[in-house]
Amino acid sequence: MNVGCEVGGGGRLRYHYPMYLPPACLGRPVLSRRDVLQRLAAALTVAMVPSRAAFAAGPEPREVALVHTHTHERLSVTFFADGSYDPESLAALSWFLRDHRTGDEHPIDPALFDILHELRLATGAASPYQVISGYRSPQTNGMLREHSSGVASGSLHLQGRAIDVRLADVSSAALRDAAMRLRRGGVGYYASSDFVHLDTGRVRCW
Ligand SMILES: [Zn+2]
Repeated sequence: MNVGCEVGGGGRLRYHYPMYLPPACLGRPVLSRRDVLQRLAAALTVAMVPSRAAFAAGPEPREVALVHTHTHERLSVTFFADGSYDPESLAALSWFLRDHRTGDEHPIDPALFDILHELRLATGAASPYQVISGYRSPQTNGMLREHSSGVASGSLHLQGRAIDVRLADVSSAALRDAAMRLRRGGVGYYASSDFVHLDTGRVRCW
């Protein structure tokens, strides 16, 4: 599926600079050597800072509102306040994002909720995130893989580090664009199913 996210024209640069990100992920078709070096330096700087500490530095409370498309449950919580994550909210979110097919629950990476919070601010969305998929048990992931070519065997859904969402008041294409600009992890755009996959893995897109 061509969603304008494929890597193109940067093969030579990527060969010389392995940490260099695909141009399409950066929203720019061509980067100069200077741009590449600057981005490489920025990436190295960021890599030396523990992400949890960086996220925890901001004093502003962080909220997330979710509605599950399969269980029809709703949850709206302030998961971060007074400089730390709220364990009760994280527990409620982990239960909310359980594998709805098997009932299996798994801790969810708090950085994923930071991404959702940032994207709500970036897009100006007022509606809750519609959740298509959160945690996936190995059993469910195996079943989905049998029925779809788009399900990865090493999916970060299995580690509680990925979520598939859409918004009622922001197009999935606009949500994807905002997520790619945020550069906090993986971004997958599924136009035909109208949702965006977000994860806390390395920055990449498809
Ligand atoms: Zn996904």
